[in-house]
Amino acid sequence: MAGRGTAYFTKRSRERAAQFSNPFVYLREDLEQARIRFLEEPSEGFYSGVFHRPYAGGKVGDPVICIEQDDDPPQLDGMTDECKLCEARDKPSMKFFVWVYVYYLLHLHQNPALDKDPQAPKWKAVKVGKGASMTTMFKQDVNKVKILLGGSRLKDEIDNSVAAASENDATLLEADYRFIRHGVPRSTDTRYVFIAIPKSSKLKDEVTKAIDELGPIADAALEGSVAFFSGGSDVAVAEEPEEEEEEAQEETAEEEEEAEAEAEDKDFATL
Ligand SMILES: [Zn+2]
Repeated sequence: MAGRGTAYFTKRSRERAAQFSNPFVYLREDLEQARIRFLEEPSEGFYSGVFHRPYAGGKVGDPVICIEQDDDPPQLDGMTDECKLCEARDKPSMKFFVWVYVYYLLHLHQNPALDKDPQAPKWKAVKVGKGASMTTMFKQDVNKVKILLGGSRLKDEIDNSVAAASENDATLLEADYRFIRHGVPRSTDTRYVFIAIPKSSKLKDEVTKAIDELGPIADAALEGSVAFFSGGSDVAVAEEPEEEEEEAQEETAEEEEEAEAEAEDKDFATL
């Protein structure tokens, strides 16, 4: 990573911004799910590090690497010797990043953007599940490469999926997966599961093309850090009430993970 300055990352970031407004795939509500395809072998395509998620303007911002607690932090323009976020008592944790192709998301509700903008995309109502457990959900087509961002708990789930695939002499790359959230917003006990979709082995041309165009995951993962350090220390760590509540509880690594796939006020319509 050394030697790549802000200009390099800014260029990459702009290119990515042209593709989508939010590079991460998030599940926001209980039972929300996405159909995804892992684009890289976990053994090769995971980038991990110790990251902060600083608050800015009432929202959780992009991950910022902790220059004190990460084992091998990159050299980025504007970096200081001490971590300003640790100094502001923000707690970093292990995060990993992996490229996935997101076909679509299934939401429990119609697009909330329609409340404000009648021209916003209307999601298609679809039946999900079978028999008594069948429910109606709302399908938001995405069809883009995104970054799956998680902590140790999500990583364990992926490891389980790798193990399950290898029992069938397969790898994680050989099927599409349903990525499902179990846990209401801000729950400290949110779980994510990955379920292989049978007979999904053939890649769409769009996915094959996306794999060819993937940039290094580490570059994408560090874009938030680049922006943070090059912008000085103007990203504040706000005193969020939720944070205080969580701090009052016994903190475990797992409890910190729930913020990974947590919703922020991103506009669904601009995914
Ligand atoms: Zn730090």
